Amino acid sequence: MNKELRKAVIAGNWKMNKTRPEAKTLIEELKPVAEKATCEVVICVPYTNLETAVELTKGTNIKVGAENVHFEKSGAFTGEISADMLTEIGVEYVIIGHSERRQYYGETDETVNKRTKAALAAGLKPIVCVGELLWERECNITEEVIARQIKLDLYDVSAEDVQKTIIAYEPVWAIGTGKTATSEQAEEVCGFIRETLAKLYGKEVADSVTIQYGGSMNPKNAAELLAQPDVDGGLIGGASLKAADFGVLLDAATNG
Ligand code: PEP
Repeated sequence: MNKELRKAVIAGNWKMNKTRPEAKTLIEELKPVAEKATCEVVICVPYTNLETAVELTKGTNIKVGAENVHFEKSGAFTGEISADMLTEIGVEYVIIGHSERRQYYGETDETVNKRTKAALAAGLKPIVCVGELLWERECNITEEVIARQIKLDLYDVSAEDVQKTIIAYEPVWAIGTGKTATSEQAEEVCGFIRETLAKLYGKEVADSVTIQYGGSMNPKNAAELLAQPDVDGGLIGGASLKAADFGVLLDAATNG
């Protein structure tokens, strides 16, 4: 990461884990662990834990995010949650377009784009996930896939708003599989994302955008991944569910 240009952001993605009592325990364990972190610390939790998380993290340096948001303000969208519903309870971040949403719930670049714009309009900071499938990497079209996702997901997003947006590069083959991209692979694609942003918005804007790596980041590989100049933090699944592991990642982002 380049700390002169950007603040690192370490965000946990709890996915569909933790009942309310379990969430309370984990948050209490995270507070002392996160206290000295100089990076931005975010936990993205299931809807049922959002209010608890906001309440328990008041007065700490831990920010709360949701794992999805709908693009309409209200209406007949059973099972969905709007951006205003999130901001009114104090949520600040939201993950959009995670590969699990794309894979299991038919999320497309078009809906990712709509959700991103709705989040920004409501004052939420979106964490927009992009990443190639293993098959696409093997066919040598990673850059084409990523460029297409960036262009479509950020279509009609202003330069001002893109600076409030975090891009998470998450190679789909590395999520929850224990297979991490090498630090070279992570840097190559995060650097390519920055180049793509520079073509769309200019270098100055691109240099200010936080680009995370996500995909089996853990206490063993975090320092090397976070030492790459274009890797400005991480979106963390499995390792965000244990306070001690998450703490090692926060230390790596703070000291790196
Ligand atoms: C994720 O779900 O965003 C993720 C990166 O998961 P994991 O760290 O478990 O691979």
